[in-house]
Amino acid sequence: MAVEQTLSIIKPDATARNITGKIINLFEEGGLRVVAQKRLRLSKEQAEGFYAVHKERPFYNDLVSFMMSGPVVVQVLEGENAILRNREIMGNTNPDEADPGTIRKLFAENIERNSVHGSDAPETAATEIAFFFDPSEIVG
Ligand code: ADP
Ligand code: MG
Repeated sequence: MAVEQTLSIIKPDATARNITGKIINLFEEGGLRVVAQKRLRLSKEQAEGFYAVHKERPFYNDLVSFMMSGPVVVQVLEGENAILRNREIMGNTNPDEADPGTIRKLFAENIERNSVHGSDAPETAATEIAFFFDPSEIVG
C-alpha cells in the first residue's frame, strides 16, 4: 500500500443541492484527507479539455454542458491507495449499479448527473491534479 493523491470533483448537480459537506464527509469517513480544495465555475475550455478523453463518446457535448451548468468543487484527496479507494467510495458510474452506501447510490440523479468525478489511474490522477492545482496549493 502506498499513500497516493487523486483528483476529485463534486459536480454541479451536487453543489445545486447543497450537499458538498455530506459528500466530503463520506471521503473523510472513508479514510481520505482533503489536501487541496477550491470552488469554481468551469469555462467551456476547461470542461472540454478536462473531458477530452471522451470527445468521441455520444454523451460528450451534454457532459460538457452539464459540467459548466453550475459551480463545482475540485479537490485533491490523499490517503492509502487513494485512487482506488476514492472510486470505491464514489461507486459505479451508473447509480442503478452502484453499491449501497456509495456516493453515487446515495446522491446521483442519473448516469450523467452522478455527483462526483474521481481519477481512474495514477497517470490520470497526476494529469488531472496538475490541470487544477499548482503544487503550492496542495498542503498535506
Ligand atoms: P467515471 O466518472 O465513473 O470515471 P466515465 O469516465 O466513463 O465514468 O465517464 C465520465 C462521466 O461522463 C461520468 O461520470 C458521467 O458524468 C458521464 N457519462 C458516462 N457515461 C455516460 C452515459 N452513458 N450517458 C451520459 N453520461 C455519461
Ligand atoms: Mg472516468
